[in-house]
Amino acid sequence: MRLILLGPPGAGKGTQAKRLEERYSISQISTGDMLRAEVKAGSPIGLEAKAIMERGDLVPDAIITAMLAARVSTPASAKGFILDGFPRTVPQAQALDQMLAEKAMPLDHVIELKVDDAALVERIAGRFTCAKCGEGYHDTFKQPAQPGVCDACGGTEFTRRADDKAETVAARLDAYHRQTSPLLPHYAAQGKLRQVDGMAEMDEVTRQIAAVLGAG
Ligand code: ADP
Ligand code: ADP
Ligand code: ZN
Repeated sequence: MRLILLGPPGAGKGTQAKRLEERYSISQISTGDMLRAEVKAGSPIGLEAKAIMERGDLVPDAIITAMLAARVSTPASAKGFILDGFPRTVPQAQALDQMLAEKAMPLDHVIELKVDDAALVERIAGRFTCAKCGEGYHDTFKQPAQPGVCDACGGTEFTRRADDKAETVAARLDAYHRQTSPLLPHYAAQGKLRQVDGMAEMDEVTRQIAAVLGAG
């Protein structure tokens, strides 16, 4: 199964991608996670991307598309994948269309998580993750069962993203509306677009996605 999770920053793409990964044994491909790993490693891509990400702008298409192409060609992706955070521009979507056509690996569904801007600001402001395993949490919506201890791995250190601050969120939402939302008609024209109510609570969103996938 090959899916795209499409939606604004904070919509719940990462949360749902992790659940799908477990349930369907397909791998999550998050370009944001890949970029954060490059930044952490201090690689040439990381050095170029760091300031752009901290401003809330998009990293140039050429860098992202090359990074993604390498990942989609790995054996782990042969069974299927969930794209989380890619594509984000029309040129990225066109590059993906071409890449998958060449490999005869068509997309099954593009699932849009619809969430209001006001809710996104609240979700992003409260987001934090386990430093050890990457499990996602939220100050209001998903605290660890035991305060300060990761449910998934027992880790006790948590991190917040450098770009999850109020000043940057407006720029990221603006980038979504200007550069990414044109992908909705792009995929609707291909008959691939499915919409899910991303405002619902996490388990309900998971159920709605499962209903889409179950329907073939
Ligand atoms: P994205 O990957 O789209 O940026 P995340 O999955 O990281 O979004 O979710 C953003 C934040 O909102 C996280 O802190 C997450 O725990 C929380 N969250 C995700 N889905 C929901 C939901 N349906 N309701 C409330 N909070 C949510
Ligand atoms: P979110 O969905 O929460 O906004 P991501 O982790 O997907 O965050 O992305 C974080 C940042 O990484 C983006 O604001 C952007 O700077 C960069 N980025 C991630 N994916 C892409 C992409 N496909 N194209 C361009 N920039 C990207
Ligand atoms: Zn953990």
